[in-house]
Amino acid sequence: MALLIRNGEIVTGTDRYFADILVEGETISRIAKGLAAPEGAEVIDATGKLVFPGFIDPHVHIHLPFMGTFAKDDYKTASTAALVGGTTTLIEMCCPSRMDDAMEQYNIWKAKAAGMSACDYTFHMAVTRYDATTEAQLREIVADGTASFKIFLSYKNFFGVDDGEMYQTLKLARELGVIVTAHCENAELVSRLQAELIAAGKTGPEWHEPSRPETVEAEGTTRFATFLETTGATGYVVHLSCAPALKAALDAKARGVKISVESVLPHFLLDKTYAAREGVEGLKYVMSPPLRDKRNQATLWDALEAGEIDTVGTDHCPFDLEQKLLGKDAFTLIPNGIPGLEDRVNLMYTYGVSRGSLSLNRFVDALSTKAAKLFGLYPRKGEIAVGSDADLVIYDPAYRGAISAKTQHVNCDYSGFEGVEIDGRPSVVTVRGQVQVRDGVFVGEYGRGEFLRRKPVFDNGVTDAG
Ligand SMILES: [Zn+2]
Repeated sequence: MALLIRNGEIVTGTDRYFADILVEGETISRIAKGLAAPEGAEVIDATGKLVFPGFIDPHVHIHLPFMGTFAKDDYKTASTAALVGGTTTLIEMCCPSRMDDAMEQYNIWKAKAAGMSACDYTFHMAVTRYDATTEAQLREIVADGTASFKIFLSYKNFFGVDDGEMYQTLKLARELGVIVTAHCENAELVSRLQAELIAAGKTGPEWHEPSRPETVEAEGTTRFATFLETTGATGYVVHLSCAPALKAALDAKARGVKISVESVLPHFLLDKTYAAREGVEGLKYVMSPPLRDKRNQATLWDALEAGEIDTVGTDHCPFDLEQKLLGKDAFTLIPNGIPGLEDRVNLMYTYGVSRGSLSLNRFVDALSTKAAKLFGLYPRKGEIAVGSDADLVIYDPAYRGAISAKTQHVNCDYSGFEGVEIDGRPSVVTVRGQVQVRDGVFVGEYGRGEFLRRKPVFDNGVTDAG
């Protein structure tokens, strides 16, 4: 059935204008003022609303065995939460451990989403060990359409790679034209500092941040950039949290290193004092990199507006309170992570655009368009144009509400943003032309979501002989 969206204000990463959008099948077929509705079309009046391209969360965990337990979402709960919050495409981290067979795990990850997801999805493939078998499998995985890698410079002996493996991963990525996303912290420093703090009886969640200080993240970022520079590979720093790490990335970029920067929702709004709260409250706010000193927030917001931070993701990773309590006697045992998939768009809109100075175009660019470009989804995703997928968010800026665990769709018994006010929410959300959400209610279909196969988009160093 055709869909006609009338009288909305269209906002993309670059433009802002009033026009109607006609959707026929799964894609946008016309954009113009005063379009007539084809017979049988559903007409949505978007007067007073903003019409955004569907948002893309480039950093999500759904199936995740980690620290002896599993994150709580499955594709049903996660894709519902994503769509209610305006995210129509998510990129999940496929994270086998160092002990696992990469291909076997890749197939497990894919099977968890297939036929289940209500939104479109794709993966970053984590490289957690590098040997001949893994290399052959990675080539197959890229050929299957998963054209981005993830490496961890931290989490030694589990997800982490050493410098030699990082070098080999980047060389392969360069050859294949694949982007490498990286968790940048110095593993050795983290394990030394953790051991010293625990030995000194400093076991509470407030000691998590001092065990991974800003210097540790700046070192990881610097080292990753140095390896990119040496190999010529293209890289992307995930969940950058502080000014010294940002400086390391920007210095590298200034000398020509192909590096992009992602920051994630919690670091824009929360700070390290949250992890110092009494009892289980503090445990909720343990993630890595940790919540930082509040002074970093202004740096992140400024860098976002300036385009120095390219994208905003969530690092969505819901562990419930019972799981968080596994670390009540030692911060090193607290499952790392916090939910955010459902709240990213509304919170960044509220505190960036509505109550801050972030421009609407930059908001769309950072939460949608830029990720589409970096990860080989553009212009199918991240754009409102004829021929693009009809993933649309008709956003109601007049809505007023607050976030609560009681009303969220994420499978978690708390929200790190409990009671936080929001100025706006998606009124209608479509996935390839099908309405999946109306005013906070999922009205769609599970299994509607497709696995998005992506082609490598970066220079592989081979010059065209012609
Ligand atoms: Zn992550």
